[in-house]
Amino acid sequence: MLHRGSSAAVTYPGGMRNCLLATLPRADFDLLAPELQSVALDQDAVLSRADHQIESVFFPHSGAISLMIDMLDGQTVATAIVGHEGAVGIPSVLGPSPSGITAVVRAAGTASRIPASRFHAAFNRSPAIRHAVQIHVRTMLMKFQLGAACNALHPVKARMARWLLHFRDRIDHDVLALTQEALSQMLGVRRTTVTLLMRDLRASGAIKSDRRGQIEIDRSRLAAAACECHGAMRLELEKIFAMNAIQPIASVVPDEGRIP
Ligand SMILES: [Zn+2]
Repeated sequence: MLHRGSSAAVTYPGGMRNCLLATLPRADFDLLAPELQSVALDQDAVLSRADHQIESVFFPHSGAISLMIDMLDGQTVATAIVGHEGAVGIPSVLGPSPSGITAVVRAAGTASRIPASRFHAAFNRSPAIRHAVQIHVRTMLMKFQLGAACNALHPVKARMARWLLHFRDRIDHDVLALTQEALSQMLGVRRTTVTLLMRDLRASGAIKSDRRGQIEIDRSRLAAAACECHGAMRLELEKIFAMNAIQPIASVVPDEGRIP
């Protein structure tokens, strides 16, 4: 469980693991609580769609959501992954505007959901909620900046290994429910390219098996195949959490994998 180390922090029942909610003192959490709904994040569910109004803010407790940019020519590419360290729909606090991204659940899990208008109202009333939003915005800017550099500088095999590790960080086992079609959309490459990359990663032992949309990985070998950006993003996330007195969640920044 994650908390600020303060006696005023909220104690959650089992399963409530979202970092941002966990930063909130009880009084601030109580501004949200009446409107928070526990929801399942089903595999491939779309939480927000590009060019549509953001209706809800989701605070994942488990699972992973990819943020996708849809290009005019029909191609897509992932810009970031969000798990229990963040939220989906936060830009709604800037006021009514269409979503810039499509948010797709890539690893099933659970979340707390609140109508965007109710979250906006609580945001206006609570410095602690605004602080949680600032933390989230800082982590997302870091992900976007490093992701842009990675896309420009690093080969696609290393990038695919990075994305797989991002997913692994947000679930508690080595079998990822990802189809090659999903990977091709996330990486912005053809499906045949993904097939060739999977073959290479299988040959090196980084992927143990890939059957029916279930990819079993060897985490340490996959880390060897990935570019520096997986470790760099995790380190930056850890720094942002540390600056805000947030204890890292084990599956986001595992002790055994923490960068010294
Ligand atoms: Zn990279």
